[in-house]
Amino acid sequence: MNLVKKLNEASLFVKIVLVFICGHLFFATSMWHLKEFFFENYHAKNIHNTAYNYSSLIIDKIGTPPDTSLARKYADDLHINIRIKTNSFEWANSKTTPHFEDLELKDFHAKFRSKIGFDEGLHVKTERGNIDYLISIQRDEYDFKFYDHLFIIIALSWFTIVLYIMYRVVRKILTPVMQLKEGVDNVSKGIFNNVIETNRTDELGKLINSFNTMNREVREMIKSRDQLLLDVSHELRTPITRVKLALEFMDDSKPKVNIQDDIKEIETMISELLETERLGSKFGGLKKEYVVVNQLLEEVSINFANREPGVVINTKNSYSMNGDPERLKTLFRNIVDNALKYSSNQPKPVEINLTGDSSNIKISIQDFGEGIPETELTHIFEPFYRVDKSRSKETGGYGLGMHLSQKIVEAHGGEIEITSKINNGSNIIITFPI
Ligand code: ADP
Repeated sequence: MNLVKKLNEASLFVKIVLVFICGHLFFATSMWHLKEFFFENYHAKNIHNTAYNYSSLIIDKIGTPPDTSLARKYADDLHINIRIKTNSFEWANSKTTPHFEDLELKDFHAKFRSKIGFDEGLHVKTERGNIDYLISIQRDEYDFKFYDHLFIIIALSWFTIVLYIMYRVVRKILTPVMQLKEGVDNVSKGIFNNVIETNRTDELGKLINSFNTMNREVREMIKSRDQLLLDVSHELRTPITRVKLALEFMDDSKPKVNIQDDIKEIETMISELLETERLGSKFGGLKKEYVVVNQLLEEVSINFANREPGVVINTKNSYSMNGDPERLKTLFRNIVDNALKYSSNQPKPVEINLTGDSSNIKISIQDFGEGIPETELTHIFEPFYRVDKSRSKETGGYGLGMHLSQKIVEAHGGEIEITSKINNGSNIIITFPI
């Protein structure tokens, strides 16, 4: 049951390889049995028949009673061994000729009073009257057992080679499946600009082409959504300025203050949206200079000094890069602000870990707060996306912080990832190339 479950869960690749292995084993065992069957029941009988006839002919020539000088001549000419045994004497052509007692002989045919044995050689014992004849076709240079073993070794090696070739072929056939898996993983991370290259024309090739088309269409959709958002933001600026101007002529009152607050909020929203547009433009609108990341993080954490549960920075070295200090500070501010906002009732402070190597700088901002459900993680970087819509008033955000953060990271050629577990906290990992 467990095995069936495990097999069900195994990858397509493992399943195909398993099918090949089982097929191969089945083929090998059936071939083995077939070989046994033919050798035992057909070839072996034929060999025994021939050996019996051959030894009968020689015995006829030697005669009864036997002529040992003729027997020696035949033994020498035919490269065989002959042993003759009667009640009164025993004769053999050579010292190495096997003895009757040493051989394991099977009845060949009761009618002919003949027995046969097959080891390093082929031995036929025949009784004529009260004389026993042994004709041994002893082939010293031809070791039957050795060839039997050699056959097994060659068969196993061949089996392994064939299996390896099949493994490579299956892998090659399934390459598009692996590429598609990678592509789908990217889509689930919100990366839509990956095009899978293929020159395959089979079903898997078609699947890849459909995947590329789907990716392109989704990309276009996102682009037009962002464009619409930016166009609307641009268009809103003029009426907002007009409203602000009109407000100046109003008498001071509660409604006036409320409208002013709302207008301020809309203005912040619009400037954040326009900021993301600038970041997405060809040169990213970045004012890059030499920045020490440790310093920027220090400055940001000082800004939040009076916020619960606090911030600690862990780092062993100083890390610097070429970046826009203001944008980087906005980025860290957004992330740290969120981390504090969503873990304010926790005892453990937010941890900023700064590490790096010769090619990357890695900043992880870990909080131990409420976390984000796994199903929501893919949407976190979308504009106006908030996990709990009702929290908006309490926490004061409108879901643009993470979107802007992602744009800042991308404009610097970096990557931003988020992992989170509900009630365990979230970890935002930013990597910048040096
Ligand atoms: P907001 O201004 O609403 O915080 P953001 O774009 O910064 O907008 O974040 C989007 C949403 O992601 C937030 O509304 C919140 O639900 C979720 N979020 C972001 N960071 C965290 C965090 N550290 N812990 C829990 N939720 C978070």
